[in-house]
Amino acid sequence: MPPPPSKRLTFQEANERRPRCRECVCLADFVFVQDETDRKRLGALIEQGRTMTFMDQLQRTTGCSIPESKATYTHLIGRDGLCHWCHSKVPDGDIADCPKCGAVNIRIFESGFAGNQRSAM
Ligand SMILES: [Zn+2]
Ligand SMILES: [Zn+2]
Repeated sequence: MPPPPSKRLTFQEANERRPRCRECVCLADFVFVQDETDRKRLGALIEQGRTMTFMDQLQRTTGCSIPESKATYTHLIGRDGLCHWCHSKVPDGDIADCPKCGAVNIRIFESGFAGNQRSAM
């Protein structure tokens, strides 16, 4: 049963349910980055398209495994602030289910992707 829309998903809830994400069968946990400075640094790497560096830094920062950093990366919300899978609007929060397709979307960088839109690359 889907949770009521007013209730925010947490990383713990997402990681404890099976499947973690309705659009794929993720075998690794999603990683939460708490520190604001780390989030900005990691978000900047994504904006620069430095995927490998992002995953490497995510592992160093949080101590997560390679599969966990990959699962987290592939579920980052789109650069346009829309669902990475179906491009629908996703509820607020660090992690949220897309109401349309059910894919998990993770926001690491509120100021980068979800917030201020920057058209210039
Ligand atoms: Zn997924
Ligand atoms: Zn979606």
